[in-house]
Amino acid sequence: MGTYLIAQICLNGHVVTTTADVQPERQEAFCSKCGEATITQCPNCSASIRGKFEYERVVVVGFDAFYKPPAFCHNCGKAFPWTERKIASAVELVEVGANLSPEEMQQFRSDLTELTKDSPKTQVASLRFNKVMGKAGTSIASGVRNIVVDVLSEAAKKAIWG
Ligand SMILES: [Zn+2]
Ligand SMILES: [Zn+2]
Repeated sequence: MGTYLIAQICLNGHVVTTTADVQPERQEAFCSKCGEATITQCPNCSASIRGKFEYERVVVVGFDAFYKPPAFCHNCGKAFPWTERKIASAVELVEVGANLSPEEMQQFRSDLTELTKDSPKTQVASLRFNKVMGKAGTSIASGVRNIVVDVLSEAAKKAIWG
């Protein structure tokens, strides 16, 4: 048996600590990387954000380095603020940098949201994503990749970047 400790993450998705409840001294009211406010609970349902999984009496060293902030709340299913912000930033970058019609922009936004989940639409959404990236050009495409790589599902990353 084991239990999840509580993670503290800033609204931009920087992980402050994965052991906020047992090591309160590691908490930060504001992110030391970007100055944003930090949260330990889902803003929608107030469930604690799952951090380190701790087995009884087993200490896992170096866990924080491998921890990835969850994209969605395990309790209510809503996207966390950093997921929404990264999608919005990527959409904005494409909007500014690529010449897409409003319909294509709309499609891109919904594809990107789909790509953060493991969903039946992953394959078709990644195909369209790659087409848009081809249209946008390499510098926009690499900018988008940097923004969204942390929030896309593993299946989506595989489908898009191999
Ligand atoms: Zn931050
Ligand atoms: Zn929630």
